[in-house]
Amino acid sequence: MAHPKKERTFVAVKPDGIQRGLIGEMIKRLENVGLKLVAMKMLTVDIPHVEKHYTLDPEWRRVTGEKTIAGYKSKGLTPPSEDPFEITGKILKNLTTYMTSGPVIAMVWEGAHAVKLVRKLVGGTEPLTSDVGTIRGDYVLDSYAMSDQDGRAVRNLIHASGSLEDAAKEIPHWFKQDEITSYRLVQDEILYDASLDNILE
Ligand code: GDP
Ligand code: MG
Repeated sequence: MAHPKKERTFVAVKPDGIQRGLIGEMIKRLENVGLKLVAMKMLTVDIPHVEKHYTLDPEWRRVTGEKTIAGYKSKGLTPPSEDPFEITGKILKNLTTYMTSGPVIAMVWEGAHAVKLVRKLVGGTEPLTSDVGTIRGDYVLDSYAMSDQDGRAVRNLIHASGSLEDAAKEIPHWFKQDEITSYRLVQDEILYDASLDNILE
């Protein structure tokens, strides 16, 4: 079994994250926790690339549609449709407009619990309710209510793989194998070395 320190996740700074001047801040937060950047590039993507990204998980349309309908109902609101696929059709259309509106930064981060840790640092999907201290909670103020009213995607600055399975599909969707570099960091020793018992001279 691969060592946990080899876990990888896909992260993208969305176009609004770049426009807000937050690339460095986001990278800093992921570096701070001890994760290692193993791939990075700036690119502009086309609509099919974004559609494919969000539908790599064949269940995404249904699950996100059902989650969105439940979200409306929990707020006492009537969802625009009872059909989860109709809902995600609209979300996906807004997402393609959003994600193709400007450059994005695509990255692969590596380290123990990379998927879960990055999700924790990124925060919940809707910035209005993302926890304080998270990237989405600290740096942006958007909500579903406002983005729905304006007929656009919620601007939440950053994407991060939601699960190990998603990461395994998203990384090769965005990167060729030779664009990802395996290397050692000096700090890997203090994070992972099982026999770190000889620091004192
Ligand atoms: P993420 O992994 O935190 O980005 O969230 P998901 O994978 O669940 O959803 C992907 C994207 O779909 C989000 O970034 C939002 O743009 C959009 N989305 C998800 N849920 C909702 C919702 O309830 N309402 C609206 N308007 N958009 C949503
Ligand atoms: Mg997701």
